[in-house]
Amino acid sequence: MAILIDGKSISTQIKDEVKEQVSELSKKGITVSLAVIQVGNDPASSVYVRNKKKACEYCGIKSLSYELPEETTEEELLKLIRDLNENKDCNGILVQLPLPKHINEDRILDEISPLKDVDGFHPVNVGCLSIGKPGFVSCTPAGVIELIKRSGYTIEGKECVVIGRSNIVGKPMALLLLRENGTVTVTHSRTQNLKEVAKRADILVVAIGKPKMIDASYVKEGAVVIDVGIHRDSENKLCGDVDFESVEKIAGAITPVPGGVGPMTIAMLMKNCAHSVELQG
Ligand code: NDP
Repeated sequence: MAILIDGKSISTQIKDEVKEQVSELSKKGITVSLAVIQVGNDPASSVYVRNKKKACEYCGIKSLSYELPEETTEEELLKLIRDLNENKDCNGILVQLPLPKHINEDRILDEISPLKDVDGFHPVNVGCLSIGKPGFVSCTPAGVIELIKRSGYTIEGKECVVIGRSNIVGKPMALLLLRENGTVTVTHSRTQNLKEVAKRADILVVAIGKPKMIDASYVKEGAVVIDVGIHRDSENKLCGDVDFESVEKIAGAITPVPGGVGPMTIAMLMKNCAHSVELQG
């Protein structure tokens, strides 16, 4: 049976470290703050925003809340971001996605100052990651690296296979594994013989967006399996992209859903907020 990788306890460890860092900064008179912008009142987004604000409170980070009506225009949102870019009392800016359809998400995310882009989505930060310069790294893949390392597994020299190549998970995930000296293969919907490729992995990261698709037939015995997916199954229970019951019998270690990658995303957001003070000099 696979060892369970406990994202809940590792994420608490990280938030406690951030709390300590924030308290040290406050002794020097520095307040860390995060602007959280939500447009409209999509219920799932409201839950995410609430959890982010709760995490800020836990870590001693000041959250500046902007709850804007659904009919907010792109220009109004751009203006708010420009103001926050200039505002010295705001270290990080987070725009909760998805935005209403009449707003161009790329245009909004590109407007956030790369020095305040705590989600790590700005093209400048993506570029910095790919050439190994300091910057913000997208929270979910950064959280996966912490999960693997803090659970005692080595990435260097290992065969790492990432299933999925999205801009927010798959691609930065591959770059981070490469930065840790893994031998990285990225797979996607046009990959041939996905099972064969996935079975080469010592470390298999699954971000495919298909509930329970990856079963034991994709996994090498003893592999570390990280499940990024989040879905609700037919009984309304949370599940991942990995068929946990089948894979836990063969994997060496596995993340559960919930309680695996999910809590790490918010913990890494908090870490990025504290890091923003350093980046902003
Ligand atoms: P996307 O839908 O943007 O990307 C899915 C990727 O999987 C694409 O690259 C796609 O390939 C690939 N893919 C789809 N079907 C197949 C297939 N049959 N075989 C091989 N590859 C396939 O998803 P995201 O990256 O945004 O998210 C992935 C999962 O992670 C989702 O379940 C999402 O809910 C979850 N998630 C969880 C987070 C967390 O905090 N835990 C944060 C973000 C996401 P192609 O490029 O060719 O289309």
